[in-house]
Amino acid sequence: MLDSKIINGKLIDAENDRLLDLELGIKDGKIACIGKDLPDAAQVIDAKGHMVSPGFIDIHMHEEDFAVTKKQEWDISKCMLRMGVTTAVIGNCGSNRQHPAEMEAEVAKKGCPVNYLSYIGHNFLREQVGNRNTRAESTPEQIEQMARMVKDAVDDGAIGVSYGIEYAQGMTFEEELGICKYILGRKDLLLSAHYRRDGDLAIPSIDEMAQLGRELDIPFQISHLSSCSAYGNMEEALERIEHYRKEGLDLTVDAYPYNAFSTDIGSDVFGPGALERLGASYADVELTDEPYEHVRCTEELFYEVRKTHPHMYVICHVMREDDIALAMAHPLVMVASDGLYRNHKGHPRGAGTFPRFLGRYVRDEKVCDFYTGIRKITSMPAQRLRLDSRKGYLKEGFDADITIFDYERIYDNSTFEHPQLAPEGIAWVIVDGKPAVEGKEILDGTCGRYLRRP
Ligand SMILES: [Zn+2]
Repeated sequence: MLDSKIINGKLIDAENDRLLDLELGIKDGKIACIGKDLPDAAQVIDAKGHMVSPGFIDIHMHEEDFAVTKKQEWDISKCMLRMGVTTAVIGNCGSNRQHPAEMEAEVAKKGCPVNYLSYIGHNFLREQVGNRNTRAESTPEQIEQMARMVKDAVDDGAIGVSYGIEYAQGMTFEEELGICKYILGRKDLLLSAHYRRDGDLAIPSIDEMAQLGRELDIPFQISHLSSCSAYGNMEEALERIEHYRKEGLDLTVDAYPYNAFSTDIGSDVFGPGALERLGASYADVELTDEPYEHVRCTEELFYEVRKTHPHMYVICHVMREDDIALAMAHPLVMVASDGLYRNHKGHPRGAGTFPRFLGRYVRDEKVCDFYTGIRKITSMPAQRLRLDSRKGYLKEGFDADITIFDYERIYDNSTFEHPQLAPEGIAWVIVDGKPAVEGKEILDGTCGRYLRRP
């Protein structure tokens, strides 16, 4: 007797560019069998008219800040789940909201909506060793301390190190190298970075990241390329990355499908000259929280809120749509949400990225074919995370993380006004073999686990 089986759906085999009219049986959290006329199951999911996909894997998002959201019980993670994500990577952009060990303990205690893997973040470690000045270099002693903490985190299962270079301009290249001195040449790890500067400084920033991956001899993921290079220079950025790949560097990219970015208004991203560099006006900057929710900035308001509410997320409506489409289409780019909220406020990408990518960019705009689109959100990130022997495909023996959606109807509903609305067209999400979402309702938000690096 199976725990459950999915019948009447189209199983996506993106490896071979085909849909299979087969049933899928689940037992003990695994895909037990794929075929016709499967044995009886305790639960039958009728997926008529729907695509049955491997669960979406979000290689770049941001976790809850327990200090702020403990009462909200997995607010961000629930948004992920409702848009079809079953596994997500936290600790990006140099930032851990709390130490990965604390996250692991919390998930072990009460479960979590999606499976998590974590980076250890450089900027987080800087604070831990007492360097709270983002403009200051770290001392040799602090770098040594961070290097040991990196080693410990990796020994405890972190997937690698993330850098948030733009958020700490005092970071030197020597420091970036130094904190990885005990993990040099580790091909089983992954580095990621939020670039040093965006806009017209995107290309030298890509050079810095490529150099870092080369010197440390560790695979490298360039984070959210769209917010780095969607200012009329995406083509050049992608060519640069291809150039490094041809030189043999193991370099890949993620990007989110929106033409606006979001971060703290008080951060170094909005340091002197930032808006000029991006070609943005003050009115392009939208405030997201009280007392200025959805208010567009003036020069005066911008500097006032930077001082009085430095942690308020703002939306900067400044990126070029044609550049976003270029990024979505490129074979080195996987799609990731960079999802992030505080007090339910923030950018709609955290609740809409994957349905938006499939509905708008793949189905409607045809930036790439359907199977390529599916690979960008399933097998590509699974391979990058070295999870591809158990996730990212519908195969017997693989983890039963499955997203069932209506390709005709799938679309994002979350907007800058209502950034956490569940999408259209996601019918069921199955995590670890258990139905976790039906329609827009969460049935069980505890199926996810904290995964150590494979
Ligand atoms: Zn970032």
